[in-house]
Amino acid sequence: MTTPQDNRIDGKEFAARVRATVQAQTAILIRDHGLKPGLAVVLVGEDPASQVYVRNKARQTNEVGMRSDEIRLDASASQAEVLAVVDRLNADDGIHGILVQLPLPEQIDETAVLDRIDPAKDVDGFHVINTGRLQVGLPALVPCTPRGCMMMLHDRLGDLSGLHAVVVGRSNIVGKPMAMLLLQANCTVTIAHSRTRNLPDLCRGADIIVAAVGRPHFVQGDWISPGATVIDVGINRVPREDGKTRLVGDVDFAAAVGHAGAITPVPGGVGPMTIACLLANTITAACRAAGIEEPKV
Ligand code: NDP
Repeated sequence: MTTPQDNRIDGKEFAARVRATVQAQTAILIRDHGLKPGLAVVLVGEDPASQVYVRNKARQTNEVGMRSDEIRLDASASQAEVLAVVDRLNADDGIHGILVQLPLPEQIDETAVLDRIDPAKDVDGFHVINTGRLQVGLPALVPCTPRGCMMMLHDRLGDLSGLHAVVVGRSNIVGKPMAMLLLQANCTVTIAHSRTRNLPDLCRGADIIVAAVGRPHFVQGDWISPGATVIDVGINRVPREDGKTRLVGDVDFAAAVGHAGAITPVPGGVGPMTIACLLANTITAACRAAGIEEPKV
């Protein structure tokens, strides 16, 4: 008998498996090719959430045996200074992935900075070249969160051909690339957004629901057809009764878990996969730069 516990997709455990694979691949690249993948993270200013995130990235990059560079600039840094850092990293052969932590201070033009990153080192997959390559089905560096969601879906469902997927949200960093990847996997894809009519009924017809809305508990339990797979990308901080805060997703998990065939919790679902996929993207970028096939483990 399936209990609600059985249908949870454990993102923490899954991400640990991805990191173990990346660690083994890194060791093979160093041993067989003298290639040590390198990831550089650029942090401008002192946003507390960004600092925690960057610290976690650096720790995990080191743990898997990669080179980890961290470049910190003052909150008052000029556009020219940030671009100069990107140019220097673009020219550094030991760096295969560059990530500029967002948000950037308001005096910096985010698009100009992201567009300056060499597309071959764009491990966040936000450069317009990678977005375009994904769209036309050419090899691209794919945004980390959608890549992680696809890994979890394939792990649970295997072949996704013919399944109807509803992606709620159309942002450039989650919704759109997610929809493209599902389409590439031969799903029939519906992209929903704030102007979509009759969203509950659309969701009820879905085999897969990906929620990337940014609204706590937005997707209701009775929107989910029995056995559907639910991937909750949302990370929302809401007040607790004791005055502190807690994280919840875009799906009403307590209501949804009894309907779904499989579902990611928040926290502990999609979130941990993002850094793991950043490391996986760095392996991809390093191998492509060196003209060697990505090692399997
Ligand atoms: P955005 O705010 O950029 O996009 C939200 C999307 O939701 C928009 O396309 C918007 O539609 C749509 N939307 C808003 N209200 C409704 C509604 N009432 N009905 C249907 N659609 C609606 O958010 P992101 O994509 O950047 O992030 C989404 C969530 O995922 C957030 O909670 C974020 O914190 C989280 N996130 C988690 C990550 C992780 O590592 N797990 C990584 C990135 C994000 P419209 O376009 O019409 O405005």
